[in-house]
Amino acid sequence: MTARGSALALPGRHGAAAMDFTLPGDSPALLNGEHRAMGLVLRRKEAVKSQELLLFLGGLGAVWASAPGTGARNRFGAGTEPMMWGEFRLYQSPRRLYLKGAEVREDFLAIRGSHGTLRAAVRWCGEIASRLMPGAQADSLLSLLWGSMKNLSAGIAPALLDIRFAWRWGNLWGIAPPLDVCSSCGGRLVPSAGDFFQMTSDGFMCLGCAEEAKISGSAVLVGRMCAAEHEALRMAATLSKDRFVRWAADALPPDSSFAACSSWLYSFINSK
Ligand SMILES: [Zn+2]
Repeated sequence: MTARGSALALPGRHGAAAMDFTLPGDSPALLNGEHRAMGLVLRRKEAVKSQELLLFLGGLGAVWASAPGTGARNRFGAGTEPMMWGEFRLYQSPRRLYLKGAEVREDFLAIRGSHGTLRAAVRWCGEIASRLMPGAQADSLLSLLWGSMKNLSAGIAPALLDIRFAWRWGNLWGIAPPLDVCSSCGGRLVPSAGDFFQMTSDGFMCLGCAEEAKISGSAVLVGRMCAAEHEALRMAATLSKDRFVRWAADALPPDSSFAACSSWLYSFINSK
């Protein structure tokens, strides 16, 4: 392991104690030899004599690693289960990356126990697996995923967490739609009762710009949001961690329009 690079701290199995590891720098090509990093299993595929794991790791981003052994002969136990967080020991040979050890730090069993929470976590892992370029370092996104899964296991509504996750991910990459200005004319969107916010392929638009875009075909109208839904989106997306947790505890359960909203937010995130 090299001395340069970033440090990622995740809580230990029992919560508060943080573990800091200095991780390799942002080069997607790992040096031959042993490496150690914190993160989770995004995806697992069974091969003939191994499990192929897509890991999302601090300092390394998304990397494919081969874990020798399959099924009952898998010597890593629960460490290769999708969505399992832990410390992974790896070995980079001239040809491929191997898993040498996996120590589980957080299994998120509470998330697996409910269909709604499991569906949200599976979506996050799937969206990252399909959109994050392998080898691209993305520690901020990894931290966002960690915090989102912690909040999910703490009982916060999955629909609120999903739109928070999708918008904040886009915001990390600088491509999230602004929530308070028209993406066409830049005019301020002022929420008031009875108003609808036009959701387009370019972002929110005021009514006038949305109509123009519809006529000219310059943007696709995706849907619309009432002022109350828009305010809930703004709160879920932009509140700081502690304020969000307090607000979410009393927020009304989101209706089905939030599912369409999160899909719209994910549409802004392209593979990077
Ligand atoms: Zn406008």
